[in-house]
Amino acid sequence: MHDPGIPAWVIEQAEDALAQELGPLARTVFDAAPDGILVVDRGGVILGVNPQLLHLTGYDEAGLLGRPLDVLLPPSVRSRHAQWVRQHFAQPRERPMGRVDGLAMCRADGTLVPVDIALGQGFWRGQACTVAFIRDVSAARRLAERLRHLAEHDVLTGLANRAQFLERLRDALDGTRRHGHTAALLLLDLDNFKEVNDTFGHPVGDRVLQHVAERLREAVRSDDLVARLGGDEFAILLPRVESPADALRVADKLLIALGPPVQVEALRLSVGGSIGVACCPQDAHDADTWMRNADLALYAAKSGGRQQPSRYETALSHAMSERARLHERLRQALRHGGLTLHYQPQISVRDGSVVGAEALLRWTDAELGAVPPAHFIPVAEATGLILPLGDWVLREACRQLRAWADQGVQLRVGVNLSPLQFRQPALAAQVRDLLQQYGLAPELLELEVTQSQAMVDLEQARRTLTALADLGVGIALDDFGTGHSSLAVLKQLPVQRIKIDRTFVRQIPGDPTDSLLVRGVVALARSFGWDVVAEGVEHSAQLEFLRRSRCPVYQGWLFAPALSPEELVSRWAAARGCHSTQR
Ligand code: C2E
Ligand code: MG
Ligand code: MG
Repeated sequence: MHDPGIPAWVIEQAEDALAQELGPLARTVFDAAPDGILVVDRGGVILGVNPQLLHLTGYDEAGLLGRPLDVLLPPSVRSRHAQWVRQHFAQPRERPMGRVDGLAMCRADGTLVPVDIALGQGFWRGQACTVAFIRDVSAARRLAERLRHLAEHDVLTGLANRAQFLERLRDALDGTRRHGHTAALLLLDLDNFKEVNDTFGHPVGDRVLQHVAERLREAVRSDDLVARLGGDEFAILLPRVESPADALRVADKLLIALGPPVQVEALRLSVGGSIGVACCPQDAHDADTWMRNADLALYAAKSGGRQQPSRYETALSHAMSERARLHERLRQALRHGGLTLHYQPQISVRDGSVVGAEALLRWTDAELGAVPPAHFIPVAEATGLILPLGDWVLREACRQLRAWADQGVQLRVGVNLSPLQFRQPALAAQVRDLLQQYGLAPELLELEVTQSQAMVDLEQARRTLTALADLGVGIALDDFGTGHSSLAVLKQLPVQRIKIDRTFVRQIPGDPTDSLLVRGVVALARSFGWDVVAEGVEHSAQLEFLRRSRCPVYQGWLFAPALSPEELVSRWAAARGCHSTQR
């Protein structure tokens, strides 16, 4: 380490001089300083070093004293640095730590250590010198890098996370604007992941996700980006493709890569996927639309039997023609028949008797088969067809109530009102006319409005509900718990009953939060004087919990799904018989 060109006595003298000139206190400070200290003269020759600097660089004193500063500089900056030193001494300036990024020092073994350097000025032996305080920042640098990595990556798979992905998506968008090429966004959702998780547990699910991540990463080029957005949702960004058809080919390739079963310990698990593709600029001109349209395409791919990627453009036109067809067939059904009302019983928790029913619309089409309300109600809402449809439902329910009353069956029936229907100024008059026409006791009819529906325009809701309540019909708040609303406000509405949404009922009694919520809602309803129905009860454990929570009425597949009017009457009679023999 000792430069053979420098005689030993020079070094000894330098050391002596340092010891003498510093004095005992300064020497202590010099030796104890946690940062490396380096004293350099105007010519860039090292005059003094402290033990920490030796420790940092791996040199001994002899290897540094009297030598040019260059030995400590990374080779790449040596020539530039000579000039910098000249400039610096022409106009010496102090500099605190943290001013210059990316500094590094060359150790004796040739490795580089990242450092931060503060500079101070001094005089020594009558000449100006610079004192450099040198701090090893490798630990801080590693930490910063780790934090940056964490902020941009998914911990489980090491893939990019949503934040990084969105940033790169915006970059890709800029790229397409600047250079006029096409970029593609692929959203991928695993088909059977939920079952894997539910059946084999989360650790196995995690391993599956890691395998999938690996396969996706291997299947794309290095400048493509694979990210995990959350759960079993992955996204792949192809910043540059020849054409949308190219992107679809990549999607095919990815699905093929996911084809073979994944091996986790002794298990062989099949995890196919669905992929939706949207291209920029063809399908979107901003990042939000791009993500949304890829998501629509994914949705179409999933409903289209899987294993076939779907492109936004095609998905959209497909969805549009599906909706148009649905609308047209529904219009025909309204005119020529095909619609019926089924009735789902509402049961007393206490004694199992049928205390009421909810009318649910059923549609079976000659071409489309049985179409669930979740499919056709939104289309009817969007096209306005819900108004004649809603009229039909109200009239049909009243007709049925009359027919039952004539048979001696006294059952309250709940009818769902759509938001559009609810906003019709003539609604109360229409209900009044129907009650009159069919000669019904108003309390046999109950109208269900969703909680969120009531909150859209509170004044209007209050007016309409009051007008309806004045007629004597019942009002139920449907899907209770799913919308945001202040209880103080709800309390002012003339509501008799709330229906706890089935999403809360699903997880009782296993889920503590939902259990607490259901119990709390029942207690609250009691204090407000509202009746309660718990929806979607499928298991006896749920019913048992409701009994313990003193919820009076439930509805759900545990007792029966929506039934034809005849079936309902026979279940009503059977439950009655059973109920009277119980007593
Ligand atoms: P909703 O008013 O909350 O109706 C309850 C829904 O839950 C019904 O679905 C019913 O079949 C279902 N359900 C009942 N018990 C269970 C159970 O134990 N488990 C599960 N998972 N589900 C259960 P449906 O008949 O498919 O109706 C869905 C929605 O469509 C209704 O939700 C309502 O918002 C709307 N809808 C149905 N009929 C009409 C109607 O005549 N007019 C209007 N405007 N909307 C209707
Ligand atoms: Mg309902
Ligand atoms: Mg409901």
